[in-house]
Amino acid sequence: MKYTTQEIAFITNAGLIGNPKRVVKNIAFDSRSIYSSKNTAFIAINSSKNSGEKYIESAIEKGIEIIIAEKKSSDNPNITWIIVENSLQFLRQLAKYHFENSIIKSIGITGSNGKTILKEWLYQSLWSEFSTVKSPKSFNSQIGLPLSLLQINPKNELGIFEVGISKPTEMTQQEEIFHPNIGVLTYIGSAHSANFENEAQLIDEKIKLFKHSKVIIFNGDKELIVNKINKSYSSKKLISFGLNPTNNIFIKNNFNNRKEPIIVQVFNEEISFQAHNRDRATLSNALALIAVLKELGFSNAKIVEKINALQAVEMRLESVEGVRNNLIINDSYNLDLDSLKIAFQFIKEYNKPKKSLVLTDFVESDIDDNFYKEVIDLVNEQNFERVYLIGNEIIKFSNEIKTKNYTFTSTHDFIESKYFDEFENQLILLKGARKFEIERIKDILELRKHETRLEVNLNALLHNINIHKSLLKPETKIMAMVKANAYGLGSFEISEFLQHHHIDYLGVAVADEGAYLRKKGITTPIIVMNPEQHSYRTVIEYNLEPEIYSFRVLDLFCNELKRHGITEKYPIHIKLETGMHRLGFKETELEELSKIVYENNIKVQSIFSHLATADMPEEKGYVKFQLENFKRASNNLIDLLGYQPIRHILNSSGILNYTEDQYDMVRIGIGMMGIAYNENIQKSMQTTVSFKTVISQISDINIGETVGYARRFKAEKESRIATIPVGYADGIPRLIGNGVGKVSVHNQLVPIVGTVCMDMLMIDVTDISAKEGDDVIIFSEKPSLFEFSNYCNTIPYEVLSSISPRVKRVYIKD
Ligand SMILES: *Cc1c(COP(=O)(O)O)cnc(C)c1O
Repeated sequence: MKYTTQEIAFITNAGLIGNPKRVVKNIAFDSRSIYSSKNTAFIAINSSKNSGEKYIESAIEKGIEIIIAEKKSSDNPNITWIIVENSLQFLRQLAKYHFENSIIKSIGITGSNGKTILKEWLYQSLWSEFSTVKSPKSFNSQIGLPLSLLQINPKNELGIFEVGISKPTEMTQQEEIFHPNIGVLTYIGSAHSANFENEAQLIDEKIKLFKHSKVIIFNGDKELIVNKINKSYSSKKLISFGLNPTNNIFIKNNFNNRKEPIIVQVFNEEISFQAHNRDRATLSNALALIAVLKELGFSNAKIVEKINALQAVEMRLESVEGVRNNLIINDSYNLDLDSLKIAFQFIKEYNKPKKSLVLTDFVESDIDDNFYKEVIDLVNEQNFERVYLIGNEIIKFSNEIKTKNYTFTSTHDFIESKYFDEFENQLILLKGARKFEIERIKDILELRKHETRLEVNLNALLHNINIHKSLLKPETKIMAMVKANAYGLGSFEISEFLQHHHIDYLGVAVADEGAYLRKKGITTPIIVMNPEQHSYRTVIEYNLEPEIYSFRVLDLFCNELKRHGITEKYPIHIKLETGMHRLGFKETELEELSKIVYENNIKVQSIFSHLATADMPEEKGYVKFQLENFKRASNNLIDLLGYQPIRHILNSSGILNYTEDQYDMVRIGIGMMGIAYNENIQKSMQTTVSFKTVISQISDINIGETVGYARRFKAEKESRIATIPVGYADGIPRLIGNGVGKVSVHNQLVPIVGTVCMDMLMIDVTDISAKEGDDVIIFSEKPSLFEFSNYCNTIPYEVLSSISPRVKRVYIKD
């Protein structure tokens, strides 16, 4: 988009204060991730939980000169204000105008799974045919969709946008601003958010996107969907795809037979292609892609060509600790202007003072004369300490880069250069087109070379929190439990991410865990659940809030407060014993407790307790008993104190199964990792943690030969045995050796054979075409963390928190 402030005010009927001629090309709504202030307006969006107005000052500090807000809040004469009645409404109005006044053909994608992948695949297939614009990342919400639409430029011929909803009535609003010519409905799972009554309601709502579409392309594997679409849209052109042969487009042969190509019936024609990934979700997306390309008039040969050229969709950036205290942000999957902007936004979130950029030629975008100029302008705005340019095209712009920069014609030349060893204490952003393979730079700079890694998908973690949140009242606070190194995932990385997303409280077990977070810059309130006797000093020095569970520790803590000369009201958290019989005050002790609290002038910030059986359906009665005890005892204590601290009792499974007892706050732990002790909700969780390694060696074993210590595996037929570099010192218990546990290779489960060693174990890959260097999944989706815990005869909590620190943690975010 490109409008003057005056035009914007005119279009949206908003007030204008200041310069009417300023040009707006971007709108930013998160002040923390502003990567460019040029032609950017900051919009202060108010939601029920947060007020965007709080961030206006920080946007101005970052150089923003145009503010869109519901009221003027600063006298800075340099700012142009667009004053609106409701900022979200404004955004929608502007986007609607912009969309309706562009002449692009548009594709709108909705559904519960596969939206983003299909959108990216369509983009990969179409950008070289049409000038194409798409939603960045998975921008599909009430804010994301308008921002995506505003990216349309006059030269664009085609727009591909995702549309998501989280509540009934939202689709009508989304459709008001965006009415796609071609509507696509990907898969709708039977899991639905608590905001919808049932699946039928969810479907009814989603298909409202197609109200004005000419063509609807939809997954017809579910009868309910077919019926509803036929009923509502009988006059439109309808194209169904799916795995059932009742669809217009379906797979004809047995797709599990990997020796054969996939044969797809497309109306009365056939097309066939090879496919490596043959899971149902991937194949459904491929069918959707075929349907859209066909509708756009592509020949069968061209469609096959496009399918063969598809690349894995990796919209994720991974961050890894590097040697010499470097932090490496690897985004070497694809390179276009959008993804460059996203990467710049992303690195704003890291507190590393020195940042460097490695950037290659762009090959995956449509490039015109001004393209590189725009890239260089953006790079110049980021204040990198050094910039390394790789490729024959981009190095031509070396002179236009303001900071120190170096040029190379290939990744190889860069790696061989002397500059490569200079990185120290830096954030290094690797941003390259695929063919340059700049991930090789990451491989060299990575700190721990151990191939075994624990991948933490932060998007999934946030998604899982949001699923829990959607069950709660909007005002209920959330404490994230990050004790025991955040269940083994890395307490700082998780806490930093959650702090960014405005979590209300963090919970750790011991004071040192809290002190570590403070030293690394975490400022969110932190509760220490189980402060040890001598740790109250640390608690106070690092501004942590202790759980107080007995008179003995209360006394210790009061003494420490006196020693520090602290007389103002220090916040503490009172643990009540309600049935767990672990720690806590008994009801008979509350009167005495309130006296001591009063005498020492401390502040009871919260009153809480912990449920022993919230995950056990058969123990509902006991939960009710504990909840009753808590209600009575906490009411009693509130009366004695004369004020009302916040109250909390629910852990993750409590949130799912006893939502009505949420009080003022809940404490989420294992739920963030995608484990839900509630079958229905489990379906909507995403996998947060993946434990992976690679095959070190494969040996052919003859009948009668044995494998490993104690010769516990003896080949009964000729076998191929793979060794993987992970053992009990990494957290894999010995008890899952000898066929008890399984891992997956090429998405197939294979048994662990022989005894688990300290640093290695062996698996049987006789039946699959695995080779050395191939990936092995210890747990992720298959087997899931839950299944893996079952092999180990324990629970996901123990599995996660037992993974050894030597296993490299890798964080993934988009
Ligand atoms: C660990 C812990 C939680 C979180 O439990 P989950 O089952 O992981 O949700 C909540 N409250 C307390 C007191 C805890 O120690």
